[in-house]
Amino acid sequence: MMDRDDNHVYQYLLNELGTSGSRDGPRARFKGRIPPKRIKRTLVNYVNSFIKCSQCSAPDTHFVKQDRTTLLKCQACGATRPVKL
Ligand SMILES: [Zn+2]
Repeated sequence: MMDRDDNHVYQYLLNELGTSGSRDGPRARFKGRIPPKRIKRTLVNYVNSFIKCSQCSAPDTHFVKQDRTTLLKCQACGATRPVKL
């Protein structure tokens, strides 16, 4: 889906949606009925927080570990910003 650790995305979803679930290969299951709209909105939040560059909005970013912090580095413009994983 995205150039990210699937598990990280999934854990983020569980936290944000306040639910638990299980993963079955590439499919994620959630406990309870969660409106698809809510999942979509949470995914958008994820993209904004962990994927999109805050400077140029490019999605071509990756995580860079620096000491104890993780930075999101943009491939397009080289900007970095700290992210909380
Ligand atoms: Zn950028």
